[in-house]
Amino acid sequence: MKLTFWGAAQQVTGSMHLVELESGTKILIDCGLDYENRKEFEDKNASFPFKAADIDLLILTHAHIDHSGNVPNLIKQGFSGRVFCSGPTLELSGYLLQDSLNIQMMEVRKKRKIYFRNKKKKTAKGGVPEALYNKSHIEDFVEMAYAMEPGQVYEYNEELKLEFFPSGHILGAISVKISAFENGDWIHLGLTGDLGNTNSKLVPDPEFMHGLDYLVSESTYGGRKHLNEPEKAEEIMLREVMDTCVERKGKLVIPAFSVGRTQAILFTLNQLYQDGKFPKVKVFTDSPLAIKSTRIYQNYTEFLNEEAQEFSRKHGSLFSFPLLHVVEDERESEYLSVLPEPCVIVSAAGMVEGGRIQMHVRNNVGHPENTILIAGFCAENTLGDRLLKGQSFVEINQKERPVHAAIRRTDVFSAHPDHAQLVNYFEETQKRGNLKKLFLVHGDKYQMQLLKTDLDGNADFVNVEVETPLRGQQFILN
Ligand SMILES: [Zn+2]
Repeated sequence: MKLTFWGAAQQVTGSMHLVELESGTKILIDCGLDYENRKEFEDKNASFPFKAADIDLLILTHAHIDHSGNVPNLIKQGFSGRVFCSGPTLELSGYLLQDSLNIQMMEVRKKRKIYFRNKKKKTAKGGVPEALYNKSHIEDFVEMAYAMEPGQVYEYNEELKLEFFPSGHILGAISVKISAFENGDWIHLGLTGDLGNTNSKLVPDPEFMHGLDYLVSESTYGGRKHLNEPEKAEEIMLREVMDTCVERKGKLVIPAFSVGRTQAILFTLNQLYQDGKFPKVKVFTDSPLAIKSTRIYQNYTEFLNEEAQEFSRKHGSLFSFPLLHVVEDERESEYLSVLPEPCVIVSAAGMVEGGRIQMHVRNNVGHPENTILIAGFCAENTLGDRLLKGQSFVEINQKERPVHAAIRRTDVFSAHPDHAQLVNYFEETQKRGNLKKLFLVHGDKYQMQLLKTDLDGNADFVNVEVETPLRGQQFILN
């Protein structure tokens, strides 16, 4: 078995790993967009380092664009094999891929303007700028996908078995175990996809894979520790709402990713409401993608954890309650951002880069009665990161704005395990199998190295080699 790392190698985005069996079967695990560097977006994603038509199977661990975003392009370039993913991943990907195409088209339109201007002057280079794929390729993906259940074992043939395990993280996310019979023996390779935080809202804890010889794991939060919050999500949210909306009569603005984070927050607020603890304060969810994703979460309760399933049996809806208002229209969103009454606004995107949240932050950051609650990881230099660093002025839409609102942070909704949880996951996997090698992917170089150093000194891991592969690096597994 050959394993080649074609993405998320010493970086976070662009997950794409190729497994080639002796029988000739080629399996691609994830086919994500690499958006590490905006200037290199075209170069990194337009073509593949292998023939798309040669891939027999594509396994999609979950719907996030850094894992699924280049699938339509793979199809455009000739892939016609089978796609395996969970039902929720299939539905969520449909929306996320369309959203990603819309974002690409904004850039493409700008580039086309320049292209046609240059064409008139006869200085245009290359062809007319295009997105990586078009809508028909997303539709093809939906047609080609086979929705499987976690826990299901799929026998591709006598020499290849695929097994899927819930990995937490977001609705429908899975880890996959690939078992191949080669040279008289079985080889078992596990790939985590993205793992979830333990005790997450809505999604179950990651399930350990058993009997593995090799493991490829995400390492997003290597070297990081989640804020030590003794309170539960309900207590944290109630404290923030009481302090901002009741005591200070302000607005609680929460930037949140559309898939996963928004649903976890709305579910928590609904729990408080159903327990009779939530004050009479309106809650607005303002992101078109989040609204669509929320419906999918509600439709797939069997993929959620016990707490959520129990709540759903008791109360019906996981998310809607009388104080919740869904903002669909862009004009309504503008009105909401200057609404003169205390309220909670949950809007995307999570790092406050783009999306409707930017307007809500812009219009509310200058008032001391308001709070901006950052509920997730913010990459360096994003607006969310600048707010967290305590800058007294932040630039939004080319204008400096004073920061008078309270800026707070919570990790309680994090969708990834932190360093200690990752180490525990590896130890538990080792106990259930016989790991020879652990490959770390999907993490910054520095974060990955901290994790490797810790594991290299771990007594339970003396027989396991920890690798941090480079892009294009190939390993023979036997
Ligand atoms: Zn993810």
